[in-house]
Amino acid sequence: MNSKVSPPDARRVTVIGAGIIGVCTANYLLKQGFAVDLVDPAIPGSEEQCSFGNAGGICPGSCIPNSMPGVWKNVPKWLMDPEGPLFVRLAYLPHALPWLLRFLVSSRKSRVEEISAAMRSLHRYTFECYEPLIREAGCEDLLHKRGQLFVHESADGPGKGAYGLGLRREHGVNVQILNADEIRQLEPALAPIFKSAVYLPEQGQCPNPGRLVAKLAENAVRHGARLVRARVIGFEMAGNGPVALKLEDGSRMPVETVVLAAGAWSAHLAKMLGDHIPFESERGYHVTVKDADTGLRIQTISADRKFVASPMEDGLRIAGNVEFAGLNAPANMARADVLLNQARPMFKKLEIGEITRWMGHRPGTPDSIPVIDKASRADNVIYAFGHGHQGLIGGAVTGKIVSEIAAGMPTTIDISPFRLDRF
Ligand SMILES: Cc1cc2nc3c(=O)[nH]c(=O)nc-3n(C[C@H](O)[C@H](O)[C@H](O)COP(=O)(O)OP(=O)(O)OC[C@H]3O[C@@H](n4cnc5c(N)ncnc54)[C@H](O)[C@@H]3O)c2cc1C
Repeated sequence: MNSKVSPPDARRVTVIGAGIIGVCTANYLLKQGFAVDLVDPAIPGSEEQCSFGNAGGICPGSCIPNSMPGVWKNVPKWLMDPEGPLFVRLAYLPHALPWLLRFLVSSRKSRVEEISAAMRSLHRYTFECYEPLIREAGCEDLLHKRGQLFVHESADGPGKGAYGLGLRREHGVNVQILNADEIRQLEPALAPIFKSAVYLPEQGQCPNPGRLVAKLAENAVRHGARLVRARVIGFEMAGNGPVALKLEDGSRMPVETVVLAAGAWSAHLAKMLGDHIPFESERGYHVTVKDADTGLRIQTISADRKFVASPMEDGLRIAGNVEFAGLNAPANMARADVLLNQARPMFKKLEIGEITRWMGHRPGTPDSIPVIDKASRADNVIYAFGHGHQGLIGGAVTGKIVSEIAAGMPTTIDISPFRLDRF
């Protein structure tokens, strides 16, 4: 790692944030011939990053927004249930309310259809964009393509989610409906409590997202990127944008072009550049049961209880929850324990020995899609943040698009749905 900062080269891009979005962006910028600085106080792939502890889903067919028609009917029920998937700390409610209202507004059918199309456009190339990076980084073992299973405890589960299934089909996603016998054949590790399921055979999964970020950061450094362990606290402005980053240690770092990919911390920095973006940390939790030998092969989602069970390199990970409490409140690990209790009946065999618990900050926009755009008041800044529940899926595609914007090239996909001016 290099903590020395040299003067900027002509085609140098400085990426703020080395989570999955930042490291993918760094790799694609290097491919375009840019010199790259990656600035982050955290070690890439470490626990501080949301990219460390996610459920590992890398799903080209992910095109269902969080705010779906009728969501408002479920919100009170979820909020009243202490073991439910949604939680707002009371003291934080006034702060989160404007975001929550925008979230509800995003559930209009016409808007849901636009968002769904945008999600699919971004996610459909996830494998194509990850594969070259993963090959270069020598970590092909970190991408499995075994599909994804949504299980229901009632026989009519898929019928209840018909609108979402319709959206997936409309976007060309392969959707298969399974009965209880078919679930048992496909995933014998599951207890026989599930009566129906939706299987998406073309989805994928990463069995260690933290290691993926670390490997991609190493790959970027091998190709010439400089990793600078520092926190950005502001910008030194001149003319139409920043000429230097102000760092926490009091130093300044000269810049040419800047990519802001600081996950849940991005909106705060964007505000300093004059852009006010509705943004919240959607805090999520996981429990990893070390060396759990359930036999689970396919990432499985409890559609009724809204958590994800993922087979990981080091055991079984149960992930889920959305908690609004801001970036600074301490984690409430009881929420992670709730996830584990809910997951216990799911498996024929689950011996619980050592467990680890984790909380991370999803970078959340109210309409479930990221901001990928130039800053409105700083010509040399590109935004790449707000990937919410799908940042692992969107990482490599976003990196490629950002490198194209930086190079002034046509982008792989139409980026108009991800523009800043939608807010
Ligand atoms: C429980 C859970 C399950 C999930 N499951 C999935 C899943 O299955 N599939 C999926 O696609 N997504 C999933 N996600 C979402 C996904 O993890 C995130 O969308 C993604 O990690 C966001 O990546 P990022 O690079 O934007 O942010 P991060 O990984 O959080 O990285 C941001 C980086 O910016 C740095 N930073 C912050 N401020 C500054 C600053 N001032 N100066 C310099 N650096 C700074 C931070 O230190 C950090 O390293 C899940 C999330 C959670 C919580």
